[in-house]
Amino acid sequence: MPLTDIEIARAAKKKPIQEIGAGIGIGSDDLLPYGHDKAKVSQDFIEAVRERPNGKLILVTAINPTPAGEGKTTTTVGLGDGLNAIGKKAMICIREASLGPNFGMKGGAAGGGYAQIVPMEEMNLHFTGDFHAITSAHSLLSAMIDNHVYWGNALEIDIRRVVWRRVVDMNDRALRQITASLGGVSNGFPREAGFDITVASEVMACLCLATDLKDLQRRLGDMIVAYRRDRTPVFCRDLKADGAMTVLLKDAMQPNLVQTLENNPAFVHGGPFANIAHGCNSVIATTTALKLADYVVTEAGFGADLGAEKFMNIKCRKAGLAPDCVVLVATIRAMKMNGGVAKADLGAENVEAVKAGCANLGRHIGNVKSFGVPVVVAINHFTGDSEAEMQAVRDYVESQGSEAIVCKHWAEGSKGTEALARRVAEIADAGAANFAPLYPDEMGLFQKIETIAKRIYHADEVLADKKIRDQLRAWEEQGYGDLPVCMAKTQYSFSTDPNLRGAPVGHSVPVREVRLSAGAGFVVVICGEIMTMPGLPRVPSAENIRLNDAGEVEGLF
Ligand code: ADP
Ligand code: MG
Repeated sequence: MPLTDIEIARAAKKKPIQEIGAGIGIGSDDLLPYGHDKAKVSQDFIEAVRERPNGKLILVTAINPTPAGEGKTTTTVGLGDGLNAIGKKAMICIREASLGPNFGMKGGAAGGGYAQIVPMEEMNLHFTGDFHAITSAHSLLSAMIDNHVYWGNALEIDIRRVVWRRVVDMNDRALRQITASLGGVSNGFPREAGFDITVASEVMACLCLATDLKDLQRRLGDMIVAYRRDRTPVFCRDLKADGAMTVLLKDAMQPNLVQTLENNPAFVHGGPFANIAHGCNSVIATTTALKLADYVVTEAGFGADLGAEKFMNIKCRKAGLAPDCVVLVATIRAMKMNGGVAKADLGAENVEAVKAGCANLGRHIGNVKSFGVPVVVAINHFTGDSEAEMQAVRDYVESQGSEAIVCKHWAEGSKGTEALARRVAEIADAGAANFAPLYPDEMGLFQKIETIAKRIYHADEVLADKKIRDQLRAWEEQGYGDLPVCMAKTQYSFSTDPNLRGAPVGHSVPVREVRLSAGAGFVVVICGEIMTMPGLPRVPSAENIRLNDAGEVEGLF
């Protein structure tokens, strides 16, 4: 039996976090330790390195995933270790984990096998408390809205049009729709409300896109919390909540330094939803890491049609970043699924299905190249992948003018990604990238949606009711026209139908709803069912999670 992720993580020989910090030039005065193996980086230090030149930025993304997850984080960590192993100075930047989902299904956010970030239990649970701070800041604003209404509602908030929901970091479907303020006069004015999971909070998206605390406060102030009867917006700033919220988020804005199993440095910071938000770690962590290392490896959520597209069109555009190389993770299993094989049959060799599934990979390669960034495919090797299947992928990728490299980091750690690391460093150093976002700021909002649908999803058309088009036009008139759009659709397909795998053509993209995240700075375009408060499965993994006699966590992974 191979060791489980948690067993491998527990056996890690961690170095004191001060030693990891020293390796990238952060003195102990600028490290704010949270225990022995985690530390935040001081704001002063972040300011002090701002003018330094940037290292190379490498984005890890993937083909359309199968429900199991295909190893983007594992490959991000493995590549970071691989770059260090070949003598490069590299850092990893990934997202923090949402606590709630750990108690539903097994599976963490720290990578897997011999490519993991440690301490993984903590990273998946309370970590340094950032998400709790976000929950608190969000809740403060929620409380201030109802309190404002209670004390006379001077802003004339229409309590039927409060768009600011509540959040908690737990999978709790019972809270999706609630009635608040019941119980009589002293408890306020009853109204419908509901909860989202903390990572879906706009506060999270603001924190992840903010360049500093001032910018954070400005974004928080810009958030729309409700509308009046005349449909004019009420902002967070109108309630004077932005200052106190920023106070609550002061420490959460500082990136968290941790290490890999191989003692290489990693920032784990921020974790916005990848559907109604942009799904990447914080701008402040990525921009700071670029000052400290020659290569920074980071990850974007879901497949490249969603994750990489938003990374480029939202995060890079907003933060002035430009990726030097993209690593597209593919697995033989996912190729087979995209080639039409059912999950239960993934174990058997099936070269034909792999070949059929390659169309999905090919489209992602083309899409990434259309941003002007070179792409290399990483085949994340699973035990049981056959040589013939891997060769089929290599041949296909070569026919697309790119190259595929088999990686065994999950089983072997950095030794398994040295070949990939060499190639990625070579590509990044060559400076061949000529990055540009897909559309200019000044393009109309609907045209932006069409551009993504046609160029990335390869759809024929975007379908939207007059109501939606009118809403987009109204936002343009109100000065929001230059915002990027944040697409929310299924991650399993280029289309809006999760069952349509491979590289579909001739489909339409129906837009069901649009929402304005005025603080985060994007327009959310909802094309399908989007869950902002997950539920627990029939048998939640929480039933098997406990402390063993040694006081260690069991059953989490
Ligand atoms: P993603 O970031 O794409 O969601 P992760 O890197 O978190 O995926 O991996 C999802 C799960 O798959 C993890 O539990 C990880 O341990 C497992 N995994 C990743 N790569 C491999 C591999 N090569 N062999 C076996 N399991 C793997
Ligand atoms: Mg991941």
